[in-house]
Amino acid sequence: MNEKKTKTKKNDLLYERKNFWKDAPAAEIRQAFAFAGPYRDFLNQAKTVRESVAWAEKLLKAHKFQALPASKANKRVYAIFRNKTMALAVIGSEPVSNGFNMVAAHIDAPRIDLKQNPLYEDSTSSTACMRTHYYGGIKKYQWVSTPLALHGFIVKSDGKTVDVSIGDKPNEPVFVIPDLLPHLARKEQYTKNLADAIDASRMNLIFSGMQEPAGEEKEALKAYALKLLKDKYGIREQDFISAELELVPATPARDAGLDASMVVGYGQDDRICAYSGIQALLANLDARPKRTMIVYFSDKEEVGSIGNTGAHSVFIQDFVASLLRHNGESDGSANLRKTFINSQILSGDVTAAIDPNYPGVHERQNAVLFNHGIGISKFTGSGGKSGCNDANAEFTAKVIRIFDAQQVFWQMGELGKVDEGGGGTIAYIMANLGAEVIDCGTGLMGMHSLYELSSKADLYSTFAGYKAFLISD
Ligand code: MN
Ligand code: MN
Repeated sequence: MNEKKTKTKKNDLLYERKNFWKDAPAAEIRQAFAFAGPYRDFLNQAKTVRESVAWAEKLLKAHKFQALPASKANKRVYAIFRNKTMALAVIGSEPVSNGFNMVAAHIDAPRIDLKQNPLYEDSTSSTACMRTHYYGGIKKYQWVSTPLALHGFIVKSDGKTVDVSIGDKPNEPVFVIPDLLPHLARKEQYTKNLADAIDASRMNLIFSGMQEPAGEEKEALKAYALKLLKDKYGIREQDFISAELELVPATPARDAGLDASMVVGYGQDDRICAYSGIQALLANLDARPKRTMIVYFSDKEEVGSIGNTGAHSVFIQDFVASLLRHNGESDGSANLRKTFINSQILSGDVTAAIDPNYPGVHERQNAVLFNHGIGISKFTGSGGKSGCNDANAEFTAKVIRIFDAQQVFWQMGELGKVDEGGGGTIAYIMANLGAEVIDCGTGLMGMHSLYELSSKADLYSTFAGYKAFLISD
């Protein structure tokens, strides 16, 4: 049968998501590509929580932001808490207590931490190794037999600190947790299910292999490794106990696909939303906002948002209290509560785009697709919406109105089929404070893997959506 190539008339009654590459103006397509380059650089510079905070602070200082308490005349302010969480704001012309517009994203990502007493000599294999403890929801088999970089921070017994970053530059060595060869995996691995085939206690890293020439010392390999560490970082074995050393993929973020329309790289959950959020706020700097604009970077989302740097911490409330004070408004608890109640927040976190290899875990009509824009999720959670923030219909409609007014490409999508699994975000934590909150972020493939995949169309649409939202009335 022949298909007639007639232009079909659009039915205004239908909800139809639009394909960015098909429908976006040529200038916007160029902008999407231009936006992705510095984003890739950011992914390579900010592979840990601390590095993300340091990266952001440098950017903010370049744009004349001041750490709170700041001079009263400055409308651009920020606060960093324990080097792992931060918030930045541009004060609007209306009182802060009228409510702010916030994009809230997390800057932690799944990774492999070194244990606090990690180093040992394995005499059986004649290697010096490091014991590890993974962080967040990983598929362990992805982290073996792949080049890893060691990033982190050591506080020595004298209180002096050392930054560690080894394995990213082409001339630096990388680290590997070797996987078992297939020839000998029949009993150890092939009889087990995927989750158990790699045992966490066997995710030890080969750290080094040399020893002192003609040395007679016991545990000569471990002693040699400690000597190298002393020479390079001035540390003793005990200093590992007060260190945060993390293994992250050594491979840099790259363009992906023949058309280079995608980005592949580590940590895009959720640094894609963090990056889009901060760039969206900076893009609004000349716009003289009515409502105060805030971007919040939280930590520990991948382990439950707990602790003094997670979204459950008092930090974000304290930050907003500081903004009230900075703006000459009462920072008393009633006014602080009122401020949150008057506020609107996009919980900027990634969602799962339909993967061609596993379409069955989604229900296509309610899942996000690559290249169709920023994903709006009214709720997350699992089972019967357990643990979710179910955004109010009024606020959902408002966000869609804001996006439509600025021709932002957007789509509605939930994370997978009902009862397929599930996941959460910090949306409910923010909503507990009384604000209107909805989940709104980029669809990824291969989420939580070492090589997460995103579409440049969706990255750009995330930026455009956040930009429109932050400046909205
Ligand atoms: Mn996330
Ligand atoms: Mn995650």
